[in-house]
Amino acid sequence: KLSLRLSQVAAFVPRGSKVADIGSDHAYLPCYLVLQQKAVSAIAGEVVEGPYQSALKQVKNNNLEHLIEVRKGSGLSVLKDGEADVITIAGMGGPLIVQILDEGKEKLKGVKRLILQPNISAISIRDWLIKHNWKVVEETILEEDQKIYEIIVAEPSEITTELTYTERLLGPVLIKKKSAVFKRKWMQEYEQWKNISNQLDLAGKSQTIAEKRAELE
Ligand code: SAM
Repeated sequence: KLSLRLSQVAAFVPRGSKVADIGSDHAYLPCYLVLQQKAVSAIAGEVVEGPYQSALKQVKNNNLEHLIEVRKGSGLSVLKDGEADVITIAGMGGPLIVQILDEGKEKLKGVKRLILQPNISAISIRDWLIKHNWKVVEETILEEDQKIYEIIVAEPSEITTELTYTERLLGPVLIKKKSAVFKRKWMQEYEQWKNISNQLDLAGKSQTIAEKRAELE
């Protein structure tokens, strides 16, 4: 059974897509998409040998070799022009997803939709998307096994979208939906930063005491 996280990524794949899943690991997502007949075909890209072998095995066990091609290589370099209309990149940090997109910019021509699920730093992805004329069209936030995940869906845009810092940090769509998970995430962040700030204050004070003591001695 697919994790809630990956099934939410899958939910954003339009029926009939040709999907490339980059950093596919076990190829769970492409197998699911093809079995559900959401994707007509898929490419699973993986750069590390172990996960690449897992992907091959998973595709073979599902008898999907005629519909899913597993390719070894970094990021979008495994793709030829026009091969995929939807690209999914999930389960990595935002900066790594950005690096993959940036290094593979040329391969994005003709891609109609990006579905990105960063484990951290979604803002870095939104920044990259805006800079390269992609528009955030959908977003979701979910909690699974005590972890909170964001999913960002982007489509090519003729014009550059302007987003405020708050929108880039919190997500232009998520900020409107204000779901319970969204509120929990930002309350947790707030508490964390407040603790750090308090600790810095305390550290600052003890330093002053130490300095005063040094002066007296
Ligand atoms: N996408 C799956 C998911 O969401 O469950 C797997 C996530 S797994 C934590 C990240 C995978 O990305 C690893 O298998 C890793 O080897 C792969 N990876 C990391 N950098 C990559 C790159 N530049 N190109 C392709 N795969 C990469």
